[in-house]
Amino acid sequence: MPVAKLKCKCGCKKYQLREKVAKYPYGNFFDKSHAEKWIEDKYKRDTAKKLIKFHQVVVKEKKAFNKETKRLKETIKKRTGPKGFYSNLATALHHYIKHVLRKGEPCYTCDKPQHFEDSGQAFHVGHFIPQKSVDPRRFMLMNLRMQCYKCNTHNSGMRAEYRQRLIEEIGIDKVEWLECDVNHKSLKDQYPEISNIKSEITKYRKLSND
Ligand SMILES: [Zn+2]
Ligand SMILES: [Zn+2]
Repeated sequence: MPVAKLKCKCGCKKYQLREKVAKYPYGNFFDKSHAEKWIEDKYKRDTAKKLIKFHQVVVKEKKAFNKETKRLKETIKKRTGPKGFYSNLATALHHYIKHVLRKGEPCYTCDKPQHFEDSGQAFHVGHFIPQKSVDPRRFMLMNLRMQCYKCNTHNSGMRAEYRQRLIEEIGIDKVEWLECDVNHKSLKDQYPEISNIKSEITKYRKLSND
């Protein structure tokens, strides 16, 4: 039998006589309504594809944006702030002073002894030069001693007594040197890279564990 009939493009599985098919750039259809239905469906499929593609681009851009935001936040929180690297260093350093270097020492400014049954907050690592987030002496061992809770918090760190004890311990010259701001490089100069702070943290953690 000669091929007098052509299959409709729309997927309906119908055949149409060659002279009766509806011819379109997309192909041959059973009639105009099959063609229109197929074109309409094609338009919907194409639109859906475009939407999916668009959605993928949006998701990708959002991910890139979030990644960049995270990176910027990390850059900002790097040094200062409660979760910054200086805070991490203070924690490691204070732990070392309290549990190794000056373990069990009495309060530097009132001689109150430490007791085994004391709570973890009974004694603090007290700063002679008050602790400010970027004070260059913040992490100097010379500037740190054990103090009882009362001296450290209620009496402004007992500054006068602290100074007198320090003079007796290390001499007036060193105390005055310590007190003079111009003698001390900024924390940023002391730790030019974040890795410098990190290695200090590692050092004190190691010293605490040895
Ligand atoms: Zn059809
Ligand atoms: Zn005290």
